[in-house]
Amino acid sequence: MIKKILVANRGEIAIRVMRTCREMGIKSVAVYSEADRSSMHVRYADEAYCIGPAPSNESYLVIDNIIDAAKRCHADAIHPGYGFLSENAGFADRCEQEGIIFIGPSSHAINTMGDKITARQKMLGAGVPVVPGTSEPIQEIDKAIKVIKEIGLPVMVKASAGGGGKGMRLIHEESEIEPGIKAAQSEALAAFGNDAVYIEKYINSPHHIEFQVLADKHGNCIHLFERECSVQRRHQKVVEETPSPIMTPEVRKEMGAHAVAAARAVNYASAGTIEFIVDDNLNYYFLEMNTRLQVEHPITERVVGVDLVKEQINIANNLPLRYKQEDLKQNGHAIEVRIYAEDPDNNFMPSPGKVMHITEPLGLGVRHDGYVYEGYTIPMFYDPMISKLIVWAPTRKEAVERMKRALYAYKITGIKTSIPFLSRVMNTPAFVEGRYNTHFIQDNQQYLEPKDDASQKIRDVAAITAFVDYISKIESKTRVSSNGSSVSNWKAFGRKKSLNRL
Ligand code: ADP
Repeated sequence: MIKKILVANRGEIAIRVMRTCREMGIKSVAVYSEADRSSMHVRYADEAYCIGPAPSNESYLVIDNIIDAAKRCHADAIHPGYGFLSENAGFADRCEQEGIIFIGPSSHAINTMGDKITARQKMLGAGVPVVPGTSEPIQEIDKAIKVIKEIGLPVMVKASAGGGGKGMRLIHEESEIEPGIKAAQSEALAAFGNDAVYIEKYINSPHHIEFQVLADKHGNCIHLFERECSVQRRHQKVVEETPSPIMTPEVRKEMGAHAVAAARAVNYASAGTIEFIVDDNLNYYFLEMNTRLQVEHPITERVVGVDLVKEQINIANNLPLRYKQEDLKQNGHAIEVRIYAEDPDNNFMPSPGKVMHITEPLGLGVRHDGYVYEGYTIPMFYDPMISKLIVWAPTRKEAVERMKRALYAYKITGIKTSIPFLSRVMNTPAFVEGRYNTHFIQDNQQYLEPKDDASQKIRDVAAITAFVDYISKIESKTRVSSNGSSVSNWKAFGRKKSLNRL
């Protein structure tokens, strides 16, 4: 049984994993870069090891340094969190070679699902619907044009090795096909060292809906229902909720069965996520599988009542799943928002720096997974996400109200954050009514842009006018003051101050 886990990550996710370790009586080990010496995950862990300088390719991404730390502290297992090495098949293999348990799926599953073209082929074989398009890398433009004519414009050109919203191009017109493919190929080569690209039909009014799966090493596989992740900025999730406002019980059942089939197709054993793209008529297509814990996993934990990290550890310990599909149900509604250190009112510019003050929201139905504290300086080397705020309530309407209340109570000074933007999302009619797709942000600019608040300006002007009026009334009363001068006390005060300044 695992007794000590090294968490090969930083920030909120490292702490999130360590919390479960503590509950399970497992010792946790932090690794940190030189820029993270005073980071909360280092304080929270039972032991901590420095693994290199600030840039992640000299620390959090250096397999040798992490393995070295794991050996020094005699860790039985490594939890990779998300990002960094979490979907690196070579890292999973290396752990195995060194006799350290990798808390995640096999390198075979990571490899198969990590390459989008291979994953599409696998899914077709398993009877899981995929977006119409090509299932081989594009070699010749002529053939690509033929396929595009068959499936119809618009199409997406995607990098097979793509991720994080990178390496995707939307093509609307025939004239864009050749330059679009060539540009995507060179972009993919530069970003991922692999120029394989393929074509997918562009789904109109797309919804991003994903299914959480859990599979053990004894052939058991279940799903933990869906998460709706259609509020996206530049193909990156901003708000997630479960259940999805557009889901029906029938489609949920069907999609859940396809998610399980997808995981089974690669002999998956751990927690994983099957992402689907869904149109307005609830036609759904496999998009990709994330072979790791997701940022948005807490909403599933809250609604289904399962600690996903605990289950990952149990699976890594070779235990059979504790749950059967029929044991699970969705209870109430959960919403998560991602809080970034960036300025939503200045084109989402990163805003690293020192946190002067932080008041985290508390109260019924609120969970806050964060890592910054007062006096902490957010380094500029890593992802700007500083926390996740998760709320739960019996109904969606109450969950939205609770999120508004929690965002109102969440105060951070010293840096800019996305909190004001997220509050505007919670007040946008399309979100409140659950009628939105991945175009939500671009379609609702009038609600989401910072208010050049005309009404506030009018209120300010009115207040100033009233003040000036009040002062002039006082002045006229004190025109001849008690000391016999004709200068008001306000003016005298001002003069005294300016004399002091001299
Ligand atoms: P990545 O691995 O880079 O995150 P995904 O394939 O998961 O890329 O797609 C990210 C997002 O891009 C989706 O959530 C969706 O909003 C949009 N998208 C991807 N493929 C399509 C498509 N075929 N049609 C419409 N939108 C798409």
